[in-house]
Amino acid sequence: MSGLSAFSLENKRIAVTGANTGIGQAIAVAIARAGGAVVAFGRSSMAETERMVASAGGRIVSAACDLADAAAKNLIGEIWQSLGPLDGLVNNAGIIRRADSVELSEADWDDVLDLNLKATFLLSQAFARHAMAENRPGRIVNIASLLSFQGGIRVASYTASKHGVLGLTRILANEWASRNINVNAVAPGYVSSNNTEALRADPERNAAILSRIPAGRWGQPDDIGNVVVFLLAPASGYVNGAVIPADGGWLAR
Ligand code: NAP
Repeated sequence: MSGLSAFSLENKRIAVTGANTGIGQAIAVAIARAGGAVVAFGRSSMAETERMVASAGGRIVSAACDLADAAAKNLIGEIWQSLGPLDGLVNNAGIIRRADSVELSEADWDDVLDLNLKATFLLSQAFARHAMAENRPGRIVNIASLLSFQGGIRVASYTASKHGVLGLTRILANEWASRNINVNAVAPGYVSSNNTEALRADPERNAAILSRIPAGRWGQPDDIGNVVVFLLAPASGYVNGAVIPADGGWLAR
């Protein structure tokens, strides 16, 4: 294998959670452009993503589920039965709740941890069980955050969940690398999406964030998609337990 084929997802079927919007949608489109087929997991309509993937010449199947429900992990097996094996899983779906830590409610703790961390673990476990049962190689890419490394402000449950995602990426990589399942993460910087709407709407926070980004701009969801493709593609076969920041230089500052 050489040249561009090392970056191709030809003949690969990849599940992406939260693919209806934002970063997950851009990941789905990037997978399609790289030749892969997408299985889109999420609770909202995938119609827009389906159109975008189709116009990129790709294939997509949607699987409706609320990922906060632990039963969502069963979908991995259902897909395996109905469509055939999955080659990769991108754990992208995530939520954030903002409040001073003295005010943060228990529900805002549980909701964020259940989706961002627990669902990431349960889906990864289901994926690995199926892949291992067939001795198939596989790729898992988790979407971490700058708040996998830093504390942040007014987002305690989110920061705890994303530190957890980084630790989980590392332990699963350690345990599963010898079974040819590569587990890695991408840590997006500040990206324009629903997740960051409140920050962009606050002129002071917006200016403070922009002034610290060496690239001088907010990231766009497209800035993340191809980094994920790299971690799904043959080119990254010897990459295990890594986290790649795609942050316009924020962490380097
Ligand atoms: P977003 O536009 O808010 O997308 C979040 C996605 O998660 C949506 O597809 C959403 O579906 C889905 N989701 C939420 N709760 C769900 C549930 N219970 N079941 C199924 N799907 C659910 O935000 P985004 O920025 O693209 O976020 C994607 C990932 O990137 C998240 O893990 C986030 O933490 C991470 N991230 C984002 C940034 C950033 O600056 N934007 C930075 C670092 C990391 P609905 O539309 O149905 O709610």
